[in-house]
Amino acid sequence: MSKFIFITGGVVSGIGKGIVGASVGRLLKDRGFSVFMQKFDPYINVDPGTMSPYQHGEVFVTKDGAETDLDLGHYERFIDEELTQRSNVTTGRIYSEVIQKERRGDYNGSTVQVIPHITDRIKGYVYKAAEESKADIIITEIGGTVGDIESLPFIEAIRQIHAENKKEDVLFIHITLVPTIPGSDELKTKPTQHSFKQLMSQGIKTNIIVVRSSEKISDEIKNKISLFCDVPKSAIVQSENVDFIYEVPVRLHKQGLDDYILHKLNLKGDKNNNHWEEMLQSIKNAKDTIEIGLVGKYVQLHDAYLSVSQALIDASYKNGYKVNIHWINSEEVDEESSKKLFKDLDGIIVPGGFGRRGVEGMISASKYARENNIPYFGICFGMQIAIIDIARNVCGLVGADSTEKDEHTKYPVISLMESQFDIENIGGTLRLGNYDCKLLENTKVRKLYGKDLIQERHRHRYEFNNKFKEQLEKQGVVFSGINPELNLAEIIEYNGADYFVACQFHPEFKSRPNKVHPLFDGFIKAIIKRKEKINK
Ligand code: GLN
Repeated sequence: MSKFIFITGGVVSGIGKGIVGASVGRLLKDRGFSVFMQKFDPYINVDPGTMSPYQHGEVFVTKDGAETDLDLGHYERFIDEELTQRSNVTTGRIYSEVIQKERRGDYNGSTVQVIPHITDRIKGYVYKAAEESKADIIITEIGGTVGDIESLPFIEAIRQIHAENKKEDVLFIHITLVPTIPGSDELKTKPTQHSFKQLMSQGIKTNIIVVRSSEKISDEIKNKISLFCDVPKSAIVQSENVDFIYEVPVRLHKQGLDDYILHKLNLKGDKNNNHWEEMLQSIKNAKDTIEIGLVGKYVQLHDAYLSVSQALIDASYKNGYKVNIHWINSEEVDEESSKKLFKDLDGIIVPGGFGRRGVEGMISASKYARENNIPYFGICFGMQIAIIDIARNVCGLVGADSTEKDEHTKYPVISLMESQFDIENIGGTLRLGNYDCKLLENTKVRKLYGKDLIQERHRHRYEFNNKFKEQLEKQGVVFSGINPELNLAEIIEYNGADYFVACQFHPEFKSRPNKVHPLFDGFIKAIIKRKEKINK
């Protein structure tokens, strides 16, 4: 039997519910419990797969190929569990499933309504997550802010879950803002009081309040919140502003949050094994900085590359360095500007992307890295870019391109597979989620992974066109990772370079702060080695 924790947010959006939720998950895992996490998003899109990265940030892909909210990336990194399609559910998905059932006649002629049909479907996702994951504790974050029209059915569903289960099996955590008034340094609890009342009016009495505030909250503030919001003082903790997000669980633990949660859930946990504190210590010891250029077209919004940048940060710390990411707009890169833009960089990364805009700039970035032996790491689009660069500039295939950008190119080095041609609906042609990849002996990546067969997560439509394989191989490209069923190129390396590795999948989704992905680790190690050689 699983226990359930529901996380809601009050006052404003963007107060870090995702990080707090992930931290709660981490703490409970550290106390010896298995944890599964999910997020309910109140928007109408069925999933964020079709949303602009400018609006929504990165689309995080799970092993089973679900395109999900970026908070799932936090969850996976914090709790180190692979989540699934059950972990991200939107209003759009719930309604479309209910409407499909209605059209099929599954409701036997009854009037289909928000309560119970929509709410039952929502509850189904919570109970199914428990059933399938068999985790001790299911943590569910409700996106949006309490009081929003969109989140009402979700709040109602979790209220019902509370009513249907034993008191000690369901717990509510509310995250709220305690602002200061500009000019006076006074902290104000009124918005929190209102948010508490709002939740109460929807039938939920929160058990725990997590306060976000720019200042440290005093005992007096806690007393006030405790009085007005009817929670004991020991159930009020602060999620302080921190330099490094991995400090959040440690700080919450120090305030007794996990003890209090276990007490309320009537669970006896192990002693907390403080291994994240050790990790934080080594992070704080990092002194020197490496400079990495991230070349993409959505760089104005760093969240569009959240897992990539987090993996770079984690891999750098692991190797004793801080990283400074230079966010380079690929539309501003060409052969000329790259000399200036990349001059002081220790490494260049070209992450995933779609469409035509800014592609030439990315190709220039690959060329610059290759010709100046600067470590290059291409991810998904970044591998396709590297192949176009090498085809054009090393193999002499003038005008080589991806058919995504130039349908009529003479040399379609990146193209759709034939089996993809007859699919009318382009949305259905993405290769998503885990695929096997076999690694070639005596290659960089084989050494980095330390095994022959790996599984990595995908999200792309186009593939390397094997017709050009031999030509590229002759010029030093090693196809070091191959999908065995479809014979698709999954990883390439360029011979002679210190580190020129590119992969068709998204390794950033599997990197963890304390289990850094081998390709990120290899990239950072190559950067450090080169830097040390230059400084000698
Ligand atoms: N646009 C490319 C494709 O669809 C790469 C996608 C990506 O980088 N995620 O194949």
